[in-house]
Amino acid sequence: MRLLVTGGCGFIGTNYIRHLFETDNDAVVVNVDKLTYAGNPLNLLDIEEIQGGTRYFFEQADIADPAAMRRILEEYAVDSIVNFAAETHVDRSINDPAPFITTNVMGTQNLLSAARALNVPRFVHVSTDEVYGDLGPQDPRFTEETPLRPSSPYSASKAAADMLAHAFFRTYGYPVCITRCSNNYGPYQFPEKLIPLMFKLASADEPLPVYGDGMNVRDWIHVEDHCRGVHLTLLNGVPGRAYNFGGDAERTNMQVVRAMLALLGRSESLIRYVKDRPGHDRRYAMDFSLAQRELGYEPKHTFEDGLAGTVRWYQANREWMAGIESGAYRDFMNTWYGDR
Ligand code: NAD
Repeated sequence: MRLLVTGGCGFIGTNYIRHLFETDNDAVVVNVDKLTYAGNPLNLLDIEEIQGGTRYFFEQADIADPAAMRRILEEYAVDSIVNFAAETHVDRSINDPAPFITTNVMGTQNLLSAARALNVPRFVHVSTDEVYGDLGPQDPRFTEETPLRPSSPYSASKAAADMLAHAFFRTYGYPVCITRCSNNYGPYQFPEKLIPLMFKLASADEPLPVYGDGMNVRDWIHVEDHCRGVHLTLLNGVPGRAYNFGGDAERTNMQVVRAMLALLGRSESLIRYVKDRPGHDRRYAMDFSLAQRELGYEPKHTFEDGLAGTVRWYQANREWMAGIESGAYRDFMNTWYGDR
């Protein structure tokens, strides 16, 4: 397999590439990442050192750049694509939707067009449960048939990309699959997202901001389970189909924050309620029975074990967190790639 992974220096892309090198002795991986604020090439330094130039290649490029995508697909004779690259933070999309349209919509279209022109036979487009909008407390979980009703500029841009992927299958017969996953947690997550943010603040005995009443529900999935689901889709997904992935772990934000405070031995007096996010979705929950039936997918991590392991990872990797905060990871590109 000669695999193009986009967004491989982000949270899930990093974990996916690490999963590939742990489970596949032959795959060649080309990681295409624009290195926005969220892309950290240090995440894959050990793989770069051992496999760089033989089984691992890095290209700093924008998925919305037609010439770059075509060149890379041709040069590396790619036979599979997993598209993780995206602008991903809902709050940033509320402040400025434009980059979300450029990368998530136009970038996905560009990558699909390049892949189709070169007949790349396998393509997984990675999406989110947020495209479905939200659920009331008693509503049944999202299935792949649930209409797309996104609430934020982020989720609207992801829904548009999903529709383009679907249209490429219907119109051109291009064999793309879509994966839709619930909230991920685990190692290497950028500390603007709930769990690493709460780790960072609680560890420093700083106040923990919690939106609204803290009762918004997310269906938490360990990033390793998501990565296995994406790879099962790449290997065995039916072209044109979307697959839901979830962790069977609905928790309110407040439950997550309290669990973290308990793991860190910190007081709940650190919790501060702050003004709710505009358009804040109330509840997400995934029915992933299609992936269970067709792909043999099962989440392996329980939320409690997964969260404890994640907290241990952040405790053991404080330098990683400090490097993000100081921006030191940005200098890595110049020192590592600059003098080659
Ligand atoms: P992330 O923000 O941690 O990483 C995104 C990566 O994409 C970064 O490395 C960034 O540099 C790169 N990137 C951004 N724009 C690019 C462009 N134009 N060209 C090339 N690279 C670009 O995101 P993540 O949390 O790892 O999410 C990865 C994917 O999974 C996204 O498509 C997201 O919508 C989806 N997803 C995430 C979650 C979650 O809980 N994090 C849940 C479901 C789905």
